[in-house]
Amino acid sequence: LPRLPIFEAIKAHSPKSTAVVHSLSGRSFTYGELVNDVAAAKDRLQRNTNGQSAEGARIAFLVENGYDYVVTLLSILAAHAIAVPLSPTFPAHELRYILDQSGSLMLLSSEKFQDKADDVLKEGMETAPINYKQEKIMLGKTDDGVTLEDPTSDKGGMMLYTSGTTNRPKGVLLPQEVLTAQSLSLLKAWKYSREDVLLHVLPLHHIHGTVNALLTPLFAGSTIEFQFPFNATAVWERLAAPFLPSSDTSKKQITFLTVVPTIYTRLLSTHATLSPELQAASKTALHPSNLRLNISGSAALPTPVKSAWTELSGGNVLLERYGMTEVGMAISCGLSFTDRVDGSVGWPLPSVQARLEDTETGEIIQEGEEVDPANGIERHGEIHLRGPTVFREYWNNPEATAKEFVDDADGQGKWFKTGDVAVRRYVDGTGKSDQDWATGPLYFIQGRKSADIIKTGGEKVSALEIEREMLSLSQVSEVAVVGLPSEAWGQKVAAVVVLSEAGMTAGRGGKPWSALDMRKALKEILANYKIPQEMRVVESIPRNAMGKINKKQLVNQVWGEAL
Ligand code: ATP
Repeated sequence: LPRLPIFEAIKAHSPKSTAVVHSLSGRSFTYGELVNDVAAAKDRLQRNTNGQSAEGARIAFLVENGYDYVVTLLSILAAHAIAVPLSPTFPAHELRYILDQSGSLMLLSSEKFQDKADDVLKEGMETAPINYKQEKIMLGKTDDGVTLEDPTSDKGGMMLYTSGTTNRPKGVLLPQEVLTAQSLSLLKAWKYSREDVLLHVLPLHHIHGTVNALLTPLFAGSTIEFQFPFNATAVWERLAAPFLPSSDTSKKQITFLTVVPTIYTRLLSTHATLSPELQAASKTALHPSNLRLNISGSAALPTPVKSAWTELSGGNVLLERYGMTEVGMAISCGLSFTDRVDGSVGWPLPSVQARLEDTETGEIIQEGEEVDPANGIERHGEIHLRGPTVFREYWNNPEATAKEFVDDADGQGKWFKTGDVAVRRYVDGTGKSDQDWATGPLYFIQGRKSADIIKTGGEKVSALEIEREMLSLSQVSEVAVVGLPSEAWGQKVAAVVVLSEAGMTAGRGGKPWSALDMRKALKEILANYKIPQEMRVVESIPRNAMGKINKKQLVNQVWGEAL
């Protein structure tokens, strides 16, 4: 595939093939329409910038998931501006922070979000020096004779804000060439094709929804079907549609699904509530011969969820991958089922360079040196990444940028410090496919250096590893493991638990499962120092739109004053 910016890439697809479908209304749009509408919208954008150049300008937008969103994003890229997608679910003052931090020239909003846009513009207006111009998006009409000055230019890009689970949101600048590199890497690894039909149920202000589920399939000429917000029953109905006895021939078979673990969990729990006919048809839809690829990422995939999905689908194994806003996707399991090892996120993707920096010694862990020969203990390392898929800077934050990029000893560019810790393991039977990047030791994420690596009594433990083990117990439905300050231990391991139905009566005398019961059960599967010393049972654990837990907030919520 040519290394072209996205707008040029979509022009190469057959104009008659379907680019976007609105799942509920069934409305569809071809690549030909998309190219025309993007060109027209880009032209309008350039005419409406108050006389300022659109090139390099940040343009924020509030648009619902669907065709208008795609046209808006691509037209901003085609105008060589920087797209700043906003989430309509954020409160106005948070969106205002993003507008101000990015220095956006404009706020575009669809009709649906006009009021929200007004609220955002009103926020702090007296003190904000920037003059926003609110544009109503009018799509569907093509202006004649629109041409791009430099059709191969790679200027412009996208700015996504980190969700702030560790810090105040930072603007991650992803120039268009980085977006292209991220998409081409995924195309090679996951082999998106023109025949793929992807069901899109994710928010679009995150890298997962935008790069993996939108830009990359557009590069490949696939069809993207939007169904948003996520509704488990609606997803099952859609997946099942082509396989029902009274099959709806207008509905194409979904071949590609990429979502977060909590969505798989919700799909699994809803399946049993469907009618027998829907249950059967949706099971057929999941079979590997129909659903070509099902991917999980953005947070750790619990092994019981993975196994339950394999069982329900008749052998379709979820492919887990690891990525972040700053780097797109970095590490992924392979297309061969044997290259989807439980608990592992696989190998560095094509064109991604990865290394592990020993969190104890600061040395780079070379391949073959994953275990310390002195004590036989696995070495934990912070993941460092570099290559064309890595972002260049945090917007207007040179201190943060300088802090996160290190060491250019070999003169081939600095490494980005992800803040995530992993171990590498060699697993027999893997790496035998024709995917040349998927060989050697596999990466196993241990969690975030700041929140998930707990130091207790001199031992280092991974919150993610304990969570994985606890989720294998039938009494536990959800869990978050955290480190709490402790005089005796430095930190002590603690768990916030949501009990499963079985857990509600699993304690003595039919009472709910207790901390004591938990410790007993865990003795069988975990080393003593890894067993949580405290457990709090809650009704639910708050997560953001991507299924992530803000552990700092959770600790405050659950222990608050007690700490
Ligand atoms: P912030 O950086 O502001 O805290 P965030 O946590 O939402 O925001 P993202 O870029 O959205 O940042 O998420 C990236 C993080 O998600 C990674 O650094 C990693 O900790 C986690 N992550 C992604 N995929 C996986 C996975 N497969 N397993 C475990 N963790 C994952």
